[in-house]
Amino acid sequence: MSTVKNVMEVFKVLEKSNCRLCGEKTCMAFAGAVFKGTRRIAECPRLSPEMVAAFASGGEESVDELQRELEKMKAAVVALSFDEAAARIGGEASGDLLRFKILGKPFAIRKDGTFVTDLHVLPWVIVPVLHYVLNCRGQALSGSWVSYRELPGGKEKYALFQRRGEEVLRQLADNYPDFFDDVLHMFDGKEVEQHFQADISVVLRPLPLLPVMICYRKAEEGMASSLNVFFDDSAGDNLGADVLFSLVTGIVRMLEKLAVHHGF
Ligand code: SF4
Repeated sequence: MSTVKNVMEVFKVLEKSNCRLCGEKTCMAFAGAVFKGTRRIAECPRLSPEMVAAFASGGEESVDELQRELEKMKAAVVALSFDEAAARIGGEASGDLLRFKILGKPFAIRKDGTFVTDLHVLPWVIVPVLHYVLNCRGQALSGSWVSYRELPGGKEKYALFQRRGEEVLRQLADNYPDFFDDVLHMFDGKEVEQHFQADISVVLRPLPLLPVMICYRKAEEGMASSLNVFFDDSAGDNLGADVLFSLVTGIVRMLEKLAVHHGF
């Protein structure tokens, strides 16, 4: 647990855009409330899960470390050949832009490492997106679906993946009857033939070479509902279990926020 010494320590972590999405008039007001203990840092929807976790676990030092990592990744993007990257990640290079889609929405990185997007999802997935651009190996999709546990390195983290990913999605699907319709509509998802004895199977595409299939089974008499997330088995090679964990849990956090805002 972080022990915050002053308001500035909190303020430093925030976006400083005064966007008011947290309900406070300014980032400084929000920082003050966090320092007093009346708000939680995670209530700023502009912070990535990585930033929230870094703040909670190690305060300023961990946040600084994460910021340094982000800056390093952005610098590596600047040095990237966009033509090579576009071919590798399933994107398109045009002028000084590397374009691709995140959850069906247009997204682009400029040569100076900044982004062109109106995606609200971005703060939640920026770290995995940068990893994807820099490190995706460009393996073609195999068409064969595997659970997180079956990916190389996934077994060790599967319990946490269930708790922060699958279980949260299951509760959303249980509580909001139009959940899947809204997700399909908003994020250009596709309902597919049911897999793994599910009542509904939906494929979303968080990144061009990373389709994710969500299989949901409704509660029946005497049996609780269930929800599982599956990946194409090239995902382990293309991104690796740790980055997939950040990507999926980031999207799940975003869906939770949307559920609260839109009441679905
Ligand atoms: S939501 Fe975050 S970035 Fe926006 S005003 Fe609140 S603290 Fe600042």
